Amino acid sequence: TGESFVVGLIGEGITASLTPPMHEKEADQQGLRYIYRPIDLTVLNRPGTDVGALLRAGRDLGFNAFNVTHPCKQLVLAELDVVSDDAARLGAVNTVLIRDGRFIGHNTDFSGFGGALAGGLPDAALDSVVQLGVGGAGAAVAYALLKAGTGELTLLDLDPVRAAERAAALSGLFPDQRITAGTPADLPSVLPGADGLVHATPVGMHSHPGIAVDLDLLSSSQWVADVVYRPVETELIRGARERGCRVLDGGRMAVGQAVDAFELITGIRPDAARMLTHFHEL
Ligand code: NAD
Repeated sequence: TGESFVVGLIGEGITASLTPPMHEKEADQQGLRYIYRPIDLTVLNRPGTDVGALLRAGRDLGFNAFNVTHPCKQLVLAELDVVSDDAARLGAVNTVLIRDGRFIGHNTDFSGFGGALAGGLPDAALDSVVQLGVGGAGAAVAYALLKAGTGELTLLDLDPVRAAERAAALSGLFPDQRITAGTPADLPSVLPGADGLVHATPVGMHSHPGIAVDLDLLSSSQWVADVVYRPVETELIRGARERGCRVLDGGRMAVGQAVDAFELITGIRPDAARMLTHFHEL
């Protein structure tokens, strides 16, 4: 059709992000003209509050869409003409479409995790789930778990106020589901009775090596999901697998957000399995 796409990723320290090459490789496979550039606030020495100025500059230069990440996912809300219901409820946007000069915000972090969960842990029991970490990634994951029908969600964070505030906000959105808050000290009492565990703290990243959960609390009937994806094989994922748990690594969520963003931007549903393969090759 001659249609072409110019897309950018706005955030701090994102020059080496795998999202641009994931989109470009899939677009190549789809036969699309598609350029995806990192716009690194750290390199540009610009603050997150410049996200609106950058969006307008991009619009004027013919960009079709942006992904936005830390520290812009909340800041960008004030710059948008339209926000999807889910993104508004979640209070965070990671994908901005530019249509007729207007900015339309979506969130594919939550939907990407939902897709990852459905694809990577099919039929995982969701009666009772424990989630460790309720920061940026954790907020999206908790929302996705509740949308997927989690009956009882226990949110644990080193910051008890953050956990309580997130639980209260989500209880307002999902009044028929039980959402409680606590700290990692509650793990020994809450984890053994849960169907699954989601880890959403930075622990286990190359820059924060280690493990935030005592593996002896896990049993083989439980599933374990990690949002950390550098490395994909975290200590938690390896240890849980060794104990016989079904596992979902953070790469699945990273690919899931890209799959859903690609579809929003192009209107074409990408091949999620192929994008996962690409991700592992990067
Ligand atoms: P964040 O700083 O916004 O939130 C981290 C939260 O974890 C904070 O609330 C902090 O208090 C809590 N925390 C830290 N250590 C803890 C511990 N030992 N026990 C309990 N709580 C603890 O960070 P974020 O942006 O949410 O990122 C978290 C991780 O998720 C990072 O590794 C990031 O790379 C990853 N991430 C993955 C994806 C993906 O698509 N897979 C997307 C976004 C972020």
